[in-house]
Amino acid sequence: MIEIKKMNKQKKIALIAHDNRKRDLLDWVKKNKETLGKHFLFGTGTTGRLITEETSLPVTTYKSGPIGGDQQIGSRIIEGDIDFMVFYWDPLEAQPHDPDVKALLRIAVLYDIPVATNQATADFIFTSPLMDEEYERFVIDYTKRIKRNI
Ligand code: PGA
Repeated sequence: MIEIKKMNKQKKIALIAHDNRKRDLLDWVKKNKETLGKHFLFGTGTTGRLITEETSLPVTTYKSGPIGGDQQIGSRIIEGDIDFMVFYWDPLEAQPHDPDVKALLRIAVLYDIPVATNQATADFIFTSPLMDEEYERFVIDYTKRIKRNI
């Protein structure tokens, strides 16, 4: 069974960057400020605050990543309140909250959320005509694959 989740034209976009990737994300956000301004923005604590400081774009922020912000974003995805993610994670440095990072990326796959993890992917996704259209995500029901002996 497949559940269809509708994404509106105005997307609910989460923006997250680890410390060594924040400058890259901030530069990308500045470059795409006009497009991003058409959507609803969310972010982990520090990333969201820096985006607002540098671009004046409104960002709904959660806790900082290392103290649970990634988990909060994950739960919003599950609840259908975030449907898009730009997540510049650091490929060269382990994070204290690596399990949360993995969990967030897993949830994004499960809920068929588009995820850009570097600039090229973000550029390709943001120039897609689908950015200005409604879109139906297909959330596969995995319950049959989860074997339980209860
Ligand atoms: P931060 O969190 O935006 O609060 O720095 C990002 C992260 O490490 O996931």
